[in-house]
Amino acid sequence: MRIELGAATHVGLVREINEDSILAENNLAVIADGMGGHARGDLASRRAVEQFKTLAAADHLSPAQIEGAIDAANRSILDEVAVAPELAGMGTTLAGVALIQYGGTPHWLVFNIGDSRVYRINRAGVEQLTVDHSEVAELIAAGQLTRQEARTHPARHVITRSLGTDPAPVADVWIFPTSPDGDTFVACTDGLTNEVSEHEIAAIVHAAHSPRDAAANLVDAAVTAGGRDNVTAAVVALAPTVTDDVEVATAPRGGRA
Ligand code: MG
Repeated sequence: MRIELGAATHVGLVREINEDSILAENNLAVIADGMGGHARGDLASRRAVEQFKTLAAADHLSPAQIEGAIDAANRSILDEVAVAPELAGMGTTLAGVALIQYGGTPHWLVFNIGDSRVYRINRAGVEQLTVDHSEVAELIAAGQLTRQEARTHPARHVITRSLGTDPAPVADVWIFPTSPDGDTFVACTDGLTNEVSEHEIAAIVHAAHSPRDAAANLVDAAVTAGGRDNVTAAVVALAPTVTDDVEVATAPRGGRA
């Protein structure tokens, strides 16, 4: 069993530097949205995804390996700040999807820290698997804010968990068996979700011919919608193991524009 990956990132139309980073190889896709402005958010997000590089080369990943890489990512940012104090305050979100071995069978592992998200898209629709670690998500959970109101709330960019902190942040982790029905996962930074609705994300994924096309088209859509932030998307699905007929049979009417 293997997976197909697509990945795309764009600086957007407003920012001068792309502070998002991405690693999508073999059985693993990880995205990170760095923050810190002058404190080099780009460096923080790059250091974080680099810690997954050796895992991307492994054939069988375990939950412990992923959790080890998340810890290493946090430490790598603290180590940078220790030798260059002017970098204090840099940090990053992190979210990802990996195909792992769990109890001897293939499972998906999904994780996040911060407000980068992972969605699952299948015939039943689109579902945000991750929970944002943000002030507005907490207000929504407490019933004090609607999702619509959150889109324009002044604290919408305030995140409550990020990498680059001591003590280390706790990642949320989900592990579940692979489904024969064909789940597709989108891991993305808020530069996508602030510009493109969940419904549109699902439509773009359904219309694309491959995870690679899907990732490129998602990023294009966010840039076209205004590109007010850096935008990054990784798209992951099990590689088809049967004939191309199934691909054709499940393609949406009209196919790709
Ligand atoms: Mg962002």
